Formats: sequence, structure tokens, C-alpha cells
Amino acid sequence: MRYAIVSDVHSNLESLESAFKEIAAEDVVMCLGDMVGYGPNPNECVELLRNRVQHAVLGNHDLAAIENFGIEYFNDAAREAILWTQRVLDDPARNWLNTLGYELRFPEFLLVHGAPVRYFDYILEKRDAADAFAATDAPLIFVGHTHVAQHWVQEPNGSIGHRHAQRGGELILEPGKRYIVDAGSVGQPRDMNPEACLVFYEPEDRRVRWVRYSYNIPRTQRKIRNAHLPAYLADRLRAGR
Ligand code: ZN
Repeated sequence: MRYAIVSDVHSNLESLESAFKEIAAEDVVMCLGDMVGYGPNPNECVELLRNRVQHAVLGNHDLAAIENFGIEYFNDAAREAILWTQRVLDDPARNWLNTLGYELRFPEFLLVHGAPVRYFDYILEKRDAADAFAATDAPLIFVGHTHVAQHWVQEPNGSIGHRHAQRGGELILEPGKRYIVDAGSVGQPRDMNPEACLVFYEPEDRRVRWVRYSYNIPRTQRKIRNAHLPAYLADRLRAGR
């Protein structure tokens, strides 16, 4: 049994298609939200995800696309992209996004976009991670939202550890410890590596693995420019930030 976890696809079809090449037919696929926003292919991405993903939660960009929620907090480029997304989003995509909730709790783990309970908070430092662990009893929490592949561990004595997965990596979950696994981003990585990221979780082996993979960035950049989305959104894909 293996889970494949994708997050922050952000309408990047080239990267999502490349991610799916890494995923096996028998994998259970979970999506941590922000399927749309920023990128040029929201409908195509939502359709692919809708047909393949078994479990998904909403991200703040998804909610902004379907309900105009929270766009006063968006920067200019993000706002311009979400207004564009609102105009082009088709009914099947909108309807499916509307069926999703903010969290999914399984016996062994929790799925949220940003953080437990405060779903759109960012876990960026140890204090945030401590707050997140305190907000749930889940031993393992999968998040996205930061676009940074990383994990946080809470030792039995309460101290918090942290490690990036900028070039990918592996983690064996140890008994008695709790973990926050940040799956990074399929569609817009921001940890100074333009390679996209997805995560595999094998519960029997207690193994979490971050996989960085390349995709056709120039093609996505061309589409962003052709859609007259902010050029910055194309440029940052090459920089990975
Ligand atoms: Zn995002």
C-alpha cells in the first residue's frame, strides 16, 4: 500500500502530468489543495485530479476561485491570476471543488492545506509547528501551502526538529514521535529548486519520500504569457522561488 501526495498544483498542467508519470496505477493519490491559481490550465488540472485523486482538501486559492474568499490578502500577481481563474473556470471544475472540505482525518494521519484547525496558516518555523501539533492529536500531519518541501518532528519531550527536502529525501517515522510532512509544490516550487515535488508515503514501512522531478517549464511559461497572466508568475518557475 502506497500513498502519493500532491499539493499546490496551481494550474500547472505540464508539472501535474509529469507528477502522474511518477505515480503508479495502484497508488492511492491524495491532494492537499491549491489545485488552481497562478497557472494557465485550471480546468485541465482539476479534471485530471478529479479523475485520479481519492482524497482531496481545499486550498485558499481554490476557495478564492470559487467564492472570491480572501483575495484581499493576495499579492497583486496572485489576485490578478485568481480573477482570471474565476473567469475561465468551468462548471465541472467549480462543482467538484465545491464538494471538498478543509480537512480529512484518517486514523493514522490528517490532511490539511496549511495547518490543523487554522487551515490557511503557514507552518514556517518551529513555533508554527508546535502550534500545529498542539491543535490536533494526529501523529502525522500532511500539509502544503508553503511550497517548500520539508518536515517537522516533535520528539517525545516536546522539542521540535526540522529538515528541508530541497533535493528530495527520505524519512522513516519513528514510534513515539509526531511529524508534519510538507509535500512542497507540484506547480510552483519556492525552495530555490525549480524541480517540482511530490511525496510518497508507505505506512507498512513507515517511510515518507520526497521526489523532485523535472517538467517542461518553458512550455508552462509560454502558456502563462499567452494567457496574459503576470510575467512574474512565469519567471519564478525557472528560479524556483
Ligand atoms: Zn499554494
